[in-house]
Amino acid sequence: QAKQIHGCSYSIYRPGMELSNDKTAGLESEIMTALRAEQFVLFYQPRIDLRSGKIVGAEALIRWQHPTRGMIMPGDFIPLCERNGLIVPIGYWTIRQAGLHLKELKEAGIHIDRLGVNLSFRQFKDDMLVDTIKRIIKQEDIDTSVLEFELTESAIFNDENHVRECLDSLAEEGITFSLDDFGTGYSSFSLLHKLPISALKIDRSFVSHLHESSEAEEIVHSIISLAHNMKLTVVAEGVETREQLDFLIQDNCDQIQGYFYSPPVSFNDFKRMLPKPN
Ligand code: C2E
Ligand code: MG
Ligand code: MG
Ligand code: MG
Repeated sequence: QAKQIHGCSYSIYRPGMELSNDKTAGLESEIMTALRAEQFVLFYQPRIDLRSGKIVGAEALIRWQHPTRGMIMPGDFIPLCERNGLIVPIGYWTIRQAGLHLKELKEAGIHIDRLGVNLSFRQFKDDMLVDTIKRIIKQEDIDTSVLEFELTESAIFNDENHVRECLDSLAEEGITFSLDDFGTGYSSFSLLHKLPISALKIDRSFVSHLHESSEAEEIVHSIISLAHNMKLTVVAEGVETREQLDFLIQDNCDQIQGYFYSPPVSFNDFKRMLPKPN
């Protein structure tokens, strides 16, 4: 049964289950074709610095422009791709595509500080992960200082030592890392000391309950202090209202993402949101 958690659909896998799920029925066999036919596209959600009020970067979010089914959201195919391993080639496509967009911005004289790219736990099972990422970076001449991989706590929890080796090796290339959906996973604070993490992204489920639940307010408050004590940047996800924004400003949160400012938009729309050089 597919469960709705924090707005994303996660599924508990049982063989044959895809057949009973309308949304994903038959999609599996179409994914490789879709990659070749360039049906995937990256949208960008701006990340705003709360002190300057300016866009400091964005998160790249994948969508599938399906020729007959229309736009398919990542929650409807990423979990499936994590189970069948297709997240590995899709993940490389995403990194390359984000890198090409980054280059396009640079060539237009537009600078951003950070570009978040999601990395799934399943991608760490690929022995070639680090080498392939390094090769893509070199091939496409990607500005690694801007690249920030977003990892979830569960990704790390799976095989901490292996993940640490991968991250350390990628960090040598100048890549930075953030912990995504922070607060929903295993939240082992020792991870934060052991891994080269530079930002925490507070999960939307806490942000959306600010002003409704004092528990959510306390959690957000604690995450912000924890992050700052550890010299980490803290980003609040899913900010939708002025009230949520005010709470986060008051509490010294560094950056936000959310519909209040902008939903994820096409690359061209994102580019237009950025200040033109001169
Ligand atoms: P995420 O990394 O936590 O991304 C944030 C999600 O929250 C995005 O959903 C974004 O559209 C949504 N969101 C942002 N602001 C708001 C808001 O104010 N209100 C609400 N209700 N939602 C907001 P999206 O694009 O559907 O992506 C869902 C998840 O799919 C992502 O969660 C991420 O885990 C995964 N995903 C997306 N692209 C990729 C990818 O290229 N690779 C991998 N491995 N996973 C991806
Ligand atoms: Mg993310
Ligand atoms: Mg997130
Ligand atoms: Mg999330």
